[in-house]
Amino acid sequence: MSDDCIFCRIVDGEIPSRTVYEDDEVLAFLDANPLSPGHTLVVPKAHHQFLSDLPADLSASVFAAVRELTPRVQRAVDAEAHTIAVNDGPAAGQEVPHLHVHVVPRFEGDGGGPIHAITGDRPDLDDDELDDIADDIRG
Ligand code: 5GP
Ligand code: ZN
Repeated sequence: MSDDCIFCRIVDGEIPSRTVYEDDEVLAFLDANPLSPGHTLVVPKAHHQFLSDLPADLSASVFAAVRELTPRVQRAVDAEAHTIAVNDGPAAGQEVPHLHVHVVPRFEGDGGGPIHAITGDRPDLDDDELDDIADDIRG
């Protein structure tokens, strides 16, 4: 629990939320400022900022909840698709420093874009640069 974290305070029940799912480790609730009807946030109850901070079993529980909830959200708002995403750090747009998975229902012609729209100019990487990056990731 982090005292100044708004999602910890929601988990604690100090701040009300429209909870749609709860188990021992995970809570899901409607986003207060939804990007579309049914926009849902799925959070671990324990405070961790980044996906890589989560113990492996907790990240599995979070994504199991995402998987279970998505068709329920879909049925509730008659969605045609979903964008499922994490803003994993401030430079990626994370405003609440408590990991949360956005489940954003999508509709044909909703005016939104694909995940490919999240950056501006795309880098022009040649084969050697791509090979180097892949090597570094493989370690
Ligand atoms: P981020 O930019 O950190 O990935 O997204 C934070 C999300 O939390 C935003 O979509 C915002 O609307 C939502 N949010 C912020 N404060 C609250 C709150 O007090 N209650 C709920 N339900 N959602 C919140
Ligand atoms: Zn927190």
